[in-house]
Order: sequence, then C-alpha cells, then structure tokens
Amino acid sequence: MTARRPNILMILTDDHATHAIGAYGSVVNTTPRIDEIAQSGRRVDHCYCTNSLCTPSRASILTGTYSHVNGVSTLVTPIDASQPTFVSQLKEAGYRTAIVGKWHMGEGPGHDPQGFDYWAVLRDQGEYFDPQILTADGVHIEKGYATDIITDLSLQWLESLEGDEPWCLLIHHKAPHRAWEPDEAHAHLYSDPIPVPSTFTDDYAGRASAAKHATMRIAEHLTLDDLKVEPPQDLTPDELALWKYQRYMEDYLRCVASVDDNVGRVIDWLGAHGVRDSTLLTYSSDQGFFLGDHGWFDKRFMYEESIRMPLLVSWPERIAPAAPMEQIVTNVDFAQTFLDAAGVDAHERMQGKSFLPQLTGSDEPTRDAFYYRYYENDDENHHVLAHYGIRTEAHKLIYFYSDGMGLPGSSPFRFAPEWELYDLEADPDELVNVYHDPAYADVREQLKVRLWELQAELGDQPHASQPIPALTS
Ligand code: CA
Repeated sequence: MTARRPNILMILTDDHATHAIGAYGSVVNTTPRIDEIAQSGRRVDHCYCTNSLCTPSRASILTGTYSHVNGVSTLVTPIDASQPTFVSQLKEAGYRTAIVGKWHMGEGPGHDPQGFDYWAVLRDQGEYFDPQILTADGVHIEKGYATDIITDLSLQWLESLEGDEPWCLLIHHKAPHRAWEPDEAHAHLYSDPIPVPSTFTDDYAGRASAAKHATMRIAEHLTLDDLKVEPPQDLTPDELALWKYQRYMEDYLRCVASVDDNVGRVIDWLGAHGVRDSTLLTYSSDQGFFLGDHGWFDKRFMYEESIRMPLLVSWPERIAPAAPMEQIVTNVDFAQTFLDAAGVDAHERMQGKSFLPQLTGSDEPTRDAFYYRYYENDDENHHVLAHYGIRTEAHKLIYFYSDGMGLPGSSPFRFAPEWELYDLEADPDELVNVYHDPAYADVREQLKVRLWELQAELGDQPHASQPIPALTS
C-alpha cells in the first residue's frame, strides 16, 4: 500500500438542503454532477450541524470545535483566525492550502483567513453578480457570476501548482443562499409546478412557543425583494402562499443548478489531471434549509430540515462505493476526518471524531447522541429563540431557554423556558411534541441526563434555568 497522502477538496455550499439533491432522493430537482460523488463513494445520511447558522457552522468545520470553544456563536461574533484548524495543521504537514469563496467569519486583521497559501474570499455574505473579492492584496471586483468565478479561481490555483506535494482546497460557494439570484444560463429551469411539502400548512399546534414566534413563513415573511416580481392581484391567501413558494423554489433551485454544473467542472478537472482517485472530495453545505417544510424558509431551528447537512464523499483509492453511511456525524467531526485521511494528528483542542473508519466500511457506532446549540435569541431577521438539545437515532429533545445572554445578535426578550421531545421513528416530520406524554416519561428523563452529561463532556455551560436532572443509574 502506498503512503501517498490524498489531496483534500471540500466543496461547501450555503444553505443547500439534502432534499434538493438528487442523490438524497429529491423530488424537486436533479443534480447529476453532485450525485456523481455519491456514486463513486458514499452518501452520509446523518450528518448534522451543531449550530444551524452560516458563520458558526463554518467555524466549527474549520476548527473542529463547538461554538462555545471557537467563540463563533452568532452571525456577528467574528472568528479569531489564529486558532488551529485542520487547514493550518495540513499546511504545517506540508500541504499546499487554499480557500476560494464565502468566508463570512469577519474581515480585517485577526479575522481574515490564516493558514492558507492562497485565499480569495467574498466579503461578508458576498454578491451573486460581479462579486467583490478580498485577497491578501486587497479588494477587487470579478466580473461575472459568483458560482462560476469561485470555480474559475479555484481551478486557476490548482493549475498554478507545481511539484508532488498534496494540496487542500476549500471551494465555498455563496449559492444557494438568499437572495437566490440565478444566472441567465439557468433562469429558465423549474418553471413547472414544484411539489409542495406535506408540512407546508403546519400550524405548530402542541409545540413550544418558538415555532409560532418565528418569522420565516413563506406565506407571510418572504418579501418582494426576495420574490423579485409582483404577485398576481386576484389571489386568495392560500393561493398567494403557493405562488410565493413556487417563486422562491424556482430561484433557489436555479442557483443549485449552477452549483451542479460547477461541481461537474471540478470533477472533470480532477479526472483530466489524473488525480480523481487520489483526491478526497466532499460535497457539503454549512447547514440545511427549510424548503417550504413547516411553511418556512431559512434554518436556525434544531428541526431536521435545518440541521441536516448533505455530505457526499469520494476517495476512490480508499473508499469503496457502498450503501449510505448511517452513523451520526457532525460538522465538528470534519476536521479530524480530513486530518485522519492525511495521516496528521488532530490538534488536542478538537472536539470531534474522525469518521474515516465508517466511510471505509466500519460498522462501529460513532456516538449515541450529538449536542446542538443555537445562541441567537429572537434575532431581528427571523425571531428564533435560543435553544439547545440532543438528537439520538430515535429521539430529539429540545430546550428553548430563550435568553440572549448578552450575546451580539441576540435580544434580551424572554419567553418562559419550554421543552420539546420528538419520536423520530413514529414522527419523522416532527409534528407531535411528546414531551408531556406520560408514555415518553422514561425516555424524556434519560435524554435529560444525557443532555446534561454531553454539556459537561463538551465543556458547555447549561442555561441557569435548566433543571439538574435526577441522576439515574
Ligand atoms: Ca448557510
């Protein structure tokens, strides 16, 4: 067996939900080029983010740590970019390293990318057309469409490399983040009626106050700026909601279609240069997204559509194509998985676990549960309340503590704390909160203990209102 270290290529999109990817069984679009990664490798079915927001998820991916450790808990808590990351460790181990595209973890000294030989990033959320690009040399504008430009710059950097040392490249697309602006080449797609999810008219009955309080309903909260065209005048409220859904999804899926083409360009480049087999290639997104599920767009909540990340992995030299990987993994695990593949020791502060053994065929479980925490409380855009919880294979326990705790991006507004519990096998759509159901009393108390234990293991501070669970043996 050769000891050659793989190239590592992570394509990360923004807000691309699994249910808009063909390989995951999408009923709303096709993504043939993205699917090729799954066909030549593995689809990971239970990959979750630990804080469903762009900036925190990116920080967790890079540093292999939770938000309370890396300090990037909200959209407005910039990263201390001197922290160890899997990229800085790969660079120390001799890898050539680069990032192109969305950074969104702050700008300026201390916050710009570190540990990269080359970086060319969008500013803040970035623009779809003629984006500003920030590099070590300053800001310039690249004419064209962001998804194409990010791929162009990435391939240019690969073309510039000489010698045999492996490389690590992060291609971070803006798409398909709001404001969902497709390019001309894809503007004609998806104009036929798009299937509407079964939970589109969810009224949140029986759940904590947070779902009703949030302002991310397609029917009420999508703006004319989002929709870009005036709706017809004579629609009933229900018809208008469906009209908005169709407009939203058309643009979202058109942005995805451009991503798909550009993923294809990258795969073709790898093949043409003979490094497809020796490259660990991943496709993922910083978190999921509600595509009309529960009547919503956006993310933030600990519900499945929001926290579930797509993750497709291929590395033909090491990973044989196989059935989807079922074990639970998180964005905190990415760093150690990449380092494991490269044969580089993880940094001691990293809090995840390599799932390379599972990708290469191990049946070993990764963990029994993972911990989630969303810090922004009653944020000005979508008014989601601060919460945390755990998800096991079968259940999800959520505690809405609803306290901004003085964090930037958070409001001091408070609801009384509330719990939710879901039986994911009986109720995969998370419509029935069984927290108060006596039939679930044992499960509920066990999960509370496990939540408490995980907080202690990870070094996070439970909210002062969280009752100490009765310890069980
Ligand atoms: Ca995002």
